[in-house]
Amino acid sequence: MSLGAEVVRGWQGTDAPSYEIINSCVQCGLCLPSCPTYLLNTRETSSPRGRIHLMKAVSDGVLDVLDPGFTHQMYECLDCRACEAVCPSGVQYGRLVEPARFQVERARRHGLRESLLRRAVFGRLFADMRAFRSFSRLLWLYQVSGLQVAARRSGVLRLLGLAGMERLLPRVPRRFLVARGQVLPPVGERRYRVGLFAGCVMSTAFAETDAATARVLQRNGCEVVLAGGQGCCGALHVHAGELQGGRDLAKRNIEAFERLELDAVIVNAAGCGATLKEYGHLFERDPEWAGRAKAFSEKVRDVSEFLAGLGELAPGMASLDVTATYQEPCHLVHAQRISAEPRRLLQQVPGLRLVEMQESSVCCGSAGIYNITEPERSRRLLDRKMGHALATRADIIVSANPGCILQLQGGLQASGSGVRVRHLVEVLDEAYGGAAGRTRA
Ligand code: SF4
Ligand code: SF4
Repeated sequence: MSLGAEVVRGWQGTDAPSYEIINSCVQCGLCLPSCPTYLLNTRETSSPRGRIHLMKAVSDGVLDVLDPGFTHQMYECLDCRACEAVCPSGVQYGRLVEPARFQVERARRHGLRESLLRRAVFGRLFADMRAFRSFSRLLWLYQVSGLQVAARRSGVLRLLGLAGMERLLPRVPRRFLVARGQVLPPVGERRYRVGLFAGCVMSTAFAETDAATARVLQRNGCEVVLAGGQGCCGALHVHAGELQGGRDLAKRNIEAFERLELDAVIVNAAGCGATLKEYGHLFERDPEWAGRAKAFSEKVRDVSEFLAGLGELAPGMASLDVTATYQEPCHLVHAQRISAEPRRLLQQVPGLRLVEMQESSVCCGSAGIYNITEPERSRRLLDRKMGHALATRADIIVSANPGCILQLQGGLQASGSGVRVRHLVEVLDEAYGGAAGRTRA
């Protein structure tokens, strides 16, 4: 049965888990040992197979979409897609859980507080980069003015129930990267013309990582275009069941990049990259946008995928004399199946010794806002991750997604460890000499 013509039972409208995909699960259970939530409690309902079974029950009309057991499982799931990567039947689990969450949110009656919060976050903050930068500027002020220290000491955050969330805030830099159509020249001969997807959190809280990404690309023969009009990728919307908001953001990004004649659109955040690569799916029932979305998605490359595809990195890296271990972001390894490339790049850095941690590809518990919505489960996953990472005795943990980086930093802080977390491109950029290295080149 084709996706367009399928009969969907128990759901409302066409943005629903596909009955065809649900039925492609043969219930073999081979995905269970890869599922982080199943690893935590070994309950069938907390496994991919169990969740697909529940979705089938809703599709068949024997379970209500607002059944507490069903809604709990849709959100206990990390949407890490580890099950998808190991499934021999090719079940596209991500394409089930995201529309299932959309159906839950659509059927739910949100209270006033939650409605206002969702509107502020999804409809305003992440929908408008000017608002996002203003908010980030306030965070920066909060952090540098001494207010953060005072708030933490006074205990007011704990009283308001905000202490856990506040601890996860990134350290916001003074300067942001604002994409306005700037074109950054390559070092040496131009080999490629690429667009840099700057992102919302990446271009503000991680603006230095964006700048490092541009520098490394320039060092490797790329002219880098910072397309004006781009914004948030919409991942948070899609994962939280806000499909329409996600589509609105996707349209803006497609329009920003599609006429620039680029060889690739480069992204340095695994979660954003997975979403950008799936814009085609997001618009598959929209004849006006389907082709444009697919064409855009086909150009998207994670920065590690792109650089590793060049073969050898450009010469000029200095020795770093550091031991590193690599933590695989779920949306890089499972959703995009990129695993060898970051390691190949790290192995090219002179003086860097790469040591493997156990369970590198098991979720660290960050998973979008999972560490806020499911703090206890998130902490257990983080503890497990910290155990494996610190057992390597590495000096740095390398990752490639802002959520994972913040989560790992939180874990290291809590354990009092001096180990640092770095984004992959920051390591490459440091080897190239950073901003000073570009000036010298
Ligand atoms: S999702 Fe795939 S691996 Fe898991 S039970 Fe279904 S068919 Fe088996
Ligand atoms: S997405 Fe992750 S947490 Fe959810 S069922 Fe699959 S493996 Fe388990």
